Formats: sequence, C-alpha cells, structure tokens
Amino acid sequence: MQTLEKLEILADAAKYDASCASSGASKRHSLGTGGIGSTEGMGICHSYTPDGRCVSLLKILLTNFCIYDCVYCVNRVSSNVRRARFTTDEVVRLTLDFYKRNYIEGLFLSSGIIRNGDYTMEQLVEVARSLREDHRFAGYIHLKTIPEAAPELLAAAGRYADRLSINVELPTEQGLAELAPEKTLPGIRAAMGELRWRIEENQEQRRAEPVRKAKPPRFAPAGQSTQMIVGADGANDRSILTASDNLYGNYRLRRVYYSAFSPIPDASIRLPTKAPPLVREHRLYQADWLLRFYGFGVDDIAPPDAGGMLDLDIDPKLAWALRHPERFPVDLNRAPREMLLRVPGLGGRNVARILASRRLGALRVDDLVRLRVPLKKTLPFVQLPDHHPRARLDDPARLRAQLAPPPRQADLFA
Ligand code: SF4
Repeated sequence: MQTLEKLEILADAAKYDASCASSGASKRHSLGTGGIGSTEGMGICHSYTPDGRCVSLLKILLTNFCIYDCVYCVNRVSSNVRRARFTTDEVVRLTLDFYKRNYIEGLFLSSGIIRNGDYTMEQLVEVARSLREDHRFAGYIHLKTIPEAAPELLAAAGRYADRLSINVELPTEQGLAELAPEKTLPGIRAAMGELRWRIEENQEQRRAEPVRKAKPPRFAPAGQSTQMIVGADGANDRSILTASDNLYGNYRLRRVYYSAFSPIPDASIRLPTKAPPLVREHRLYQADWLLRFYGFGVDDIAPPDAGGMLDLDIDPKLAWALRHPERFPVDLNRAPREMLLRVPGLGGRNVARILASRRLGALRVDDLVRLRVPLKKTLPFVQLPDHHPRARLDDPARLRAQLAPPPRQADLFA
C-alpha cells in the first residue's frame, strides 16, 4: 500500500479522537467547484500548547488494526473497515516532510492495540525517540498512551513527548464493562496516576536544581489529557462531570475533552442510532470551564434533583443563577471575586477589569458598557448605584424566557 493511501486511511481513522480536534464547522468542500479549501479534510488538526499557542499537528494513527472490540470504535477488531499500518520510519518521515514544508508544527500519534499494550507502546515511543534523537526534532509531540503498557514505557514516552493522553472513553465502570470490555477504569486510573507521579516528580526535581544545565530533562511538560465520549452509553451529564472533576482533582489532568458520539458503520444495536446534539458537547465544555476556573462544583452545575442533565438552551452559569435567585443581585462595587465570577456574562477577564476599575471609584452602568460587559445577560443579576434589577429576579421563569434563545421549529427532514 502506498504511503498516501495509508495516510488517507489512518488520518481518517484518527478523526474520532477529540483530544486535539478543531471541530465545529459545518461540512464544506471545494472539490469540483474550482475553489479552494475544505472543512472535512482529516490529518491536520489544532492543539494548544501550555503557553497558549495554537499549533497544527499531523494527526494520525500508527495503525487502525486493533485486537480490542470497543463497541463504539470504528477500528475495533470486529469492524469491517479497510486496515492500514505505518512503519515507525514512515511516520517519522511524514512528520519531518510536513514539518519542513511548514504544514505542521508537531505530531499527534495514536494507535489501535497491536499484539498487546507493551508492543504498541514501544512502537509509539520509537517514533517519538527517533524524531527527538535521530533527527533532533524540536516540534510538539502528543502521544496517546496505552494504559496496560509497562511503567518503563510510560516513562520513555514522557521523556520524548510534550503531552501524553490516556482516553478514559466512558465515565462509568458500568459503561466500560458494557461497551469496552477489555478496558477497566482502575487500569486506566492506575496509568494516569503513574503519569501524574512522574510529571510532578520531574517538576520538583527541576525546581530543586538551581543550575540550569544540570536540570533533568522535562517529562511531558504539557501534562496529560483524556477524552470522554458523550452519548454512547446512558451516562448523564452529572456522571460525566463527576468523572472529570475526579480526573482534574486526583490526576491533575490538563484537559478533559468531550467528544459527541458519532454513529459508525455496522454499529452494534447497543449503540444509539443518532449522535447526541452537538450543543450537549458545547454545554459540557462550558461546565468543565466552570469547574476548573470559576469555583463551581458538580452539584452546582448538575444538581441531582434536576435529572443530571444540563439545560441545552442556556449556558450552565446562567442556569445556576436562575436556580439561585436568592444569591442575587450581586453588588458589583463590593462583592468578592468569587461571587463576581458567578454572575452570568462576567468572564475572568471582565472580573479582573471590574476589580481594577472599582478601586478608582464606584462603577455605574456606563462603566460596564466601557468594559464591554454583555449588559443583557449581566444587568438582571447585578446592582449598581444607578441600577437595581428589582422584581426581575422574583420571576426566574420569565427571566429565563427573556434570556434563552427563542424556540425554533425543528426541521422535519434534517
Ligand atoms: S482500544 Fe482504542 S482503537 Fe482499539 S477498539 Fe478500543 S477504542 Fe478502538
């Protein structure tokens, strides 16, 4: 099989991994129109480095052969898809060629399980090793990590890669047992724990060593991440967010990526026939942000008495505010930072600007306009010397109707 043909298969097979996807655009391409560009192409995706730069990555699988039979996966052993496998040298060459042409700034490499976890991990590590040692490649490398692989292999992976990720895939043990019987949550968590320990130990050693030249080499400096599939099993948003909260707290993950399940060819009857609405994935990302940066807990965002699902029509912060009118209005001139962060429409940057501005004098509505605060969303929840929301908070249902997007007629043929 020619390299280009393999690339077509293995870049396409990698598209289901959202750990670094730049998704969301509607499908569009210029083939046959004489134009240029496509939103459907696979192979190069975007990711963010720890310092916030957006980098383009060659995103491929080493192989889409896999001895496992995860029901939701197009590459499972029982799947009827065309298979291909790169040699490690081919991946190295492709990465260097694309890099030299300035198409990419790094590599995202994953793989189906060939023979066993150790063998697969060895192959992945060999690609990263060769790039770093044989070719002195200084670009970004993200390696998918096989949870069953030996600790020495995880250690080697961290020496060469910027970021490692282990996909937890489904939030509950029960979901994994039903849909990915070869995987176990304790096994995945043990591997994540191992990585956390190595990352932190490395950071400590580097901090303790004052002489720059003597510092030990970095270990996965961009940390570890994971992906959870949304909508393949019956897990609700509360279970998903509880699992994420646990992963952030116990394993110091940098990111949890949520990937709406997409129906695959010849799918098992255990899987839903339709993908969940993309907005569910979007709401989970918003909720995830609230967990990490806004001081919210899972109980705030998805309380057990609300059925465990996020409101798809409004963002989770607004939903929380409408459930808790007793916490509002917030006095923008006096409230502490933690409470300002809970006001709908106020992001971290706005809160910082408000805190800085109010030191110079009392803020008024005009000041919010100057600070580019979204007034429609924020004013019902805040109090200023020239503004009080008065009765609006007494009727949260009415307020919700005013702030939610107007209902749309569903398309019968969509
Ligand atoms: S181990 Fe990975 S590649 Fe193999 S079937 Fe499961 S999800 Fe797919």
